[in-house]
Amino acid sequence: MRTLIIALALAMLAGCAQNPVSGKSDFVMMSESQEVAVGRQADVQVKQQYKVYESKALQDYVNRVGQKLAKQSHRPDLSYHFTVLDSPEVNAFALPGGYVYITRGILAHLNSEAEMAAVIGHEIGHVTARHGVRQQSAAQAANIGLTIASIFVPEIGSVGGQNLTNLVGGALLSGYGREHELESDRLGAQYLARAGYDPQAIISILRTLKNQELKDAELAKQEGREPRRYSGLFATHPDNDTRLKEIVGEADGLVSAHPFEGREEFLRQIDGLVFGDNSDQGIVRNNRFYHADLGIALAFPESWQVHNQPNTLIAISPRGEAMMQLKMDQKPQGTPTEYTRRLVGYGAQTQSLDLNGLPAATFELPNAMGGVIYHDKKAYILQAQAKERGGLSAHRNAIFDTVRSFHSITSAERKLVEPLSVRIITARSGDTYAKLAQGSPLGKSAESYLRLINAQYPDGEPKPGQAIKIVE
Ligand SMILES: [Zn+2]
Repeated sequence: MRTLIIALALAMLAGCAQNPVSGKSDFVMMSESQEVAVGRQADVQVKQQYKVYESKALQDYVNRVGQKLAKQSHRPDLSYHFTVLDSPEVNAFALPGGYVYITRGILAHLNSEAEMAAVIGHEIGHVTARHGVRQQSAAQAANIGLTIASIFVPEIGSVGGQNLTNLVGGALLSGYGREHELESDRLGAQYLARAGYDPQAIISILRTLKNQELKDAELAKQEGREPRRYSGLFATHPDNDTRLKEIVGEADGLVSAHPFEGREEFLRQIDGLVFGDNSDQGIVRNNRFYHADLGIALAFPESWQVHNQPNTLIAISPRGEAMMQLKMDQKPQGTPTEYTRRLVGYGAQTQSLDLNGLPAATFELPNAMGGVIYHDKKAYILQAQAKERGGLSAHRNAIFDTVRSFHSITSAERKLVEPLSVRIITARSGDTYAKLAQGSPLGKSAESYLRLINAQYPDGEPKPGQAIKIVE
């Protein structure tokens, strides 16, 4: 009898969750309503970390395509939420319970509605197969906390990924692992086919994303920094991956006679899309940071990686052993030196200085250094930290040069901070990417960027009459 009760209790705990895809029971300690509650809560945190992209037309379009795919999924009755995030990162991810996000950064790299549907379909696959919940259950068991799943999230070590991890309290941002990723690809392919698209779009976006990685490696070499590496899909599926091709091929039987590609429709929808940094978040150009609304500018060392997040600005040293962070205090008290001493302790070495009329102070401790600059009644705190004690000494000059580079934005600099946007044009006869890149605000890498976002990397050229993206 006692055994029976225990068995029943276990069944209620674990057996309540039948996997919607496989029909088998998962070891999942979470009901659907709990799953939705977890997603809803984490959604609030995602929207604090990232801004929602301000374009009702584009949000509606993505939602329309997303709902169409969700209806063809294994969980058609779940309430799905599709959101375009105002981020230049090339990324898409899903939370448990039906919350799916796609960045404007990845949209700029896609070339048809079918490709966008392929990204969204893959994310819906994570939701329907309850990957987040299954991992969450494992995490709960290990007392780790919530996990956000992402196919394109930069590997741990990138600031974006780390912030999100810390924010949601998780520790496993390295994708879902190969088996879950392949399962999502398989599910995504089915949903795509049933919704009237050709699942081959999965293969073509992977090629674009792979090229994006190659392109970043090329840029990183020019800039003398480490390339941004991506985990999940990039790591597990090179575009010649035979298993992925098999999986996509399995959905061939479901494809309609005339699948919808939606190239023109998609390009029309992203005409005018913000490209790169958006102005209200401040803009990074060649490692210089400009913020027109706040009226400030500063220059980070050329070899550092600058990450402009909505609520923080961070620069990482080339080998990642040191970082600088810029913070703002709306209502500082006392002089910069007094403020600095209260902030970092009276044991710090401080020095007051005048930066072209801006009152400021620098500070130095064994494991932290930087400065405080007053500008327009606000205090800007630039603080450097190292992973290990003594790790800052090699960067001392670079750090204080950065503090001293802080200045009020000039009128010439203000012109630089207009955000760039994607424009759709029709290629004329004689147009080449080299020609279109002349005078482009994308600078010396404009030509390969244009090829990349038009899926013609590394050596394609536009055909006369072809609708192509340019950035201006
Ligand atoms: Zn994935």
